[in-house]
Amino acid sequence: MGQRTKIKALLQSEQTNIEVTVKGWVRTFRNNQFIALNDGSTNSNLQIVVDFENTDPTLLKRITTGAAISVVGQLVASLGKGQTVEVKATEIEVLGDSDPEKYPLQPKKHSLEFLREIAHLRFRTNTFGAIFRVRNSLSFAVHQFFQEKGFVYLHTPIITASDAEGAGETFHVTNFDLLNTPKTETGEIDFKQDFFGRPTNLTVSGQLEGELGAMALSDIYTFGPTFRAENSNTTRHLAEFWMIEPEMAFYDLTDNMNLAEELLKYVIRYTLDKNKEDIEFLTQRLEEEEKQKPQNERSDMSLLDKLQFCLDNDFERLTYTEAIDILKESTPNKKKKFQYPVEGWGTDLQSEHERYLVEKHFKKPVILTDYPKDIKAFYMRQNEPDAQGRETVRAMDILFPGIGEIVGGSQREERLDKLEQRMDEMGIPKEELWWYLDTRRFGACPHAGFGLGFERLVLFVTGMGNIRDVIPFPRFPKNAEF
Ligand code: ATP
Ligand code: MN
Repeated sequence: MGQRTKIKALLQSEQTNIEVTVKGWVRTFRNNQFIALNDGSTNSNLQIVVDFENTDPTLLKRITTGAAISVVGQLVASLGKGQTVEVKATEIEVLGDSDPEKYPLQPKKHSLEFLREIAHLRFRTNTFGAIFRVRNSLSFAVHQFFQEKGFVYLHTPIITASDAEGAGETFHVTNFDLLNTPKTETGEIDFKQDFFGRPTNLTVSGQLEGELGAMALSDIYTFGPTFRAENSNTTRHLAEFWMIEPEMAFYDLTDNMNLAEELLKYVIRYTLDKNKEDIEFLTQRLEEEEKQKPQNERSDMSLLDKLQFCLDNDFERLTYTEAIDILKESTPNKKKKFQYPVEGWGTDLQSEHERYLVEKHFKKPVILTDYPKDIKAFYMRQNEPDAQGRETVRAMDILFPGIGEIVGGSQREERLDKLEQRMDEMGIPKEELWWYLDTRRFGACPHAGFGLGFERLVLFVTGMGNIRDVIPFPRFPKNAEF
């Protein structure tokens, strides 16, 4: 087969007039003479010049959009516009034909909705090539960040018997014949006879198990798939998504926020550096898209500016209580422009409120802390009630422009009595979580952690508008194609 050079390397080659072998997929074939070839290593195509007068016409006919070909030829300086080098083909072999009548991807602009329906082929477009190279860099950067800090990558289970948040939005895991499940004497499903001898589900978070690791290894992180059967058909929710969950012994909430902010900046900087060309392409794509919008809906910053801005500025940190005061006094609230008016202390913030804080009020990423305990999970560390007797927990959510919540975390409750009391209040079965409570019995220490939704990060960095476009094969209500 001979040695093949990737197109990215060829386009950067300082040497010319050498023989090269390239392989890839035809994007276009013009005038029986110019092939734009792409192999996914970069969005830039390599121009292949075909000596059509001396090429078999049946071979020329098989060089169609989508076909896989192998080319041997001379790498030469290009005379044409748009590229510095090109390949003068001496040998072309069609490895895989692509019937132009049937191939769904035409060399024109397709809508993102249409491309979602052909997600098996959308990798072959410039937009999705860029997105998935960026996603790759972000995930590598996440590992590099934690590895440099001596964190241990911990693989927490995907099948679990606990529902970490008690939110109940889980997918059941069973090998029962669903049309004929074994029943107990009282007519209920007899899970004792199921594969695990108890009800199990796909994990919604690796946190609880992550905490167990941190109580010995000090600093751990997970990076794996999580599943939520939430029936939310939004542009920011998936039924299967990837989450990064670090847990750190001896960290308080401030350490936790510092780490999260440092992580986000690190991975964005890494990707800006590594995928400059892709980010520039995506910046342009977004600019084109914004041109379709009415003036007042366009953002005043380009994607590149937004990313740079995020690196250059400290995230704004304030408490939930301070945020409520700002929101109450805000113009949209007074003019009754919010769908959910901000009235009292204690209710959860809606995404319109989060976006107001981030996009209008502070105009930068915001970290909100110390939420009312009644709207947060049982494991968050309880604060002393304030002067007015209001009870909060040491939670922190990071809110990003255009995204809303990107990180949710907290300092964990390490005091056994407080934790048990909270579990009782919230009806969380202590017997089932005996192993979690053991860490509070044996060598408990202050500790903290957070969850970063990986696709929301990819959304932010690529400037895409829908989370279904930043994961190869999205799972959402009524869709599990591919
Ligand atoms: P939201 O309020 O946006 O639904 P959440 O409070 O349910 O988020 P957490 O349980 O704190 O989120 O999960 C941690 C992180 O995981 C979130 O900050 C977000 O980035 C991401 N995340 C949560 N649910 C989803 C989902 N269904 N799809 C993709 N990412 C998600
Ligand atoms: Mn949620």
